[in-house]
Amino acid sequence: MQVSTQSAVAQALGSGIASTHQLTGGSINNAFAVRLDDQREVFVKTNPGSDPRMFPTEALGLAWLNNAKAIRVPKVLAVSNSSNSSPAFLALEFITSASPASDFAEQLGHGLARLHASGADGYGLDHNNFIGTLAQDNATCATWAEFYGVRRIEPQVRLAVDRGVAPTTWTQTFGSLLTRLPDLVGSEEPPARLHGDLWTGNLHTDDNGSPCIIDPAAYGGHREIDLAMLRLFGTPSERFDRAYNEVLPLAAGASDRVPLYQVYPLLVHANLFGGHYVSAAEQALAHYA
Ligand code: ADP
Repeated sequence: MQVSTQSAVAQALGSGIASTHQLTGGSINNAFAVRLDDQREVFVKTNPGSDPRMFPTEALGLAWLNNAKAIRVPKVLAVSNSSNSSPAFLALEFITSASPASDFAEQLGHGLARLHASGADGYGLDHNNFIGTLAQDNATCATWAEFYGVRRIEPQVRLAVDRGVAPTTWTQTFGSLLTRLPDLVGSEEPPARLHGDLWTGNLHTDDNGSPCIIDPAAYGGHREIDLAMLRLFGTPSERFDRAYNEVLPLAAGASDRVPLYQVYPLLVHANLFGGHYVSAAEQALAHYA
């Protein structure tokens, strides 16, 4: 960790730093286990090149999810300021991992459903944030179909075309999806409190063997998008599905909408990482051709 970041972290936490140990597993930032002089072990993320608002908005998202008291979320200990040029960092309580408890799937299903049910003020949020390093516009919309189209799919398609990640034909092909969204998104539901970037890498196991969700891109939206993200790189167990439905049953047709709700995370992945995610986004779209 850069010396200037170490000083900023030490000052914010009120203790010198005894040692730092770099962790793997993240896709965007540098992550460290940090031992403080006062013996506390904390988790610190840094990114010298990041937008200064990235970590402050992640901290707000973590706190918002934590307020639901539905599923474990790391507590925020300190965060850098978005309004000055001091080193960007986010310090969280350190989550020590253990093997998953025998009822991990049930805890996750119940906890995620309770998180979603705790709701949001609208489709969107009172501030913009980031998914990975990409900006998320959270200005609220009257309907979920409008929000998913105008605030989620459209900006990522524009970015992909502008950056040359995707062909210009995307403007037309994804544009036609946008006009049909009101018929595709499923029945209108109250806005759910979403993690917003719930791929399996952001799902951890804490020292009790219970689920802990990290690295959110939180906002109010349709809960099926969190569930579709969880299916992007794996298949949650039937026990998880059952537990989720015990608390907050899914609407009819939810499984048919999984590809629709994977379009946004795949577009994000295409813009962050390129490669096969570009064709994966097209394949998800093809379900609705
Ligand atoms: P990125 O923003 O780069 O995706 P993450 O927030 O996913 O970074 O964190 C990177 C890695 O650090 C995770 O995969 C996880 O192994 C570990 N990690 C994240 N948060 C904590 C925490 N609070 N306590 C312990 N380890 C953590």
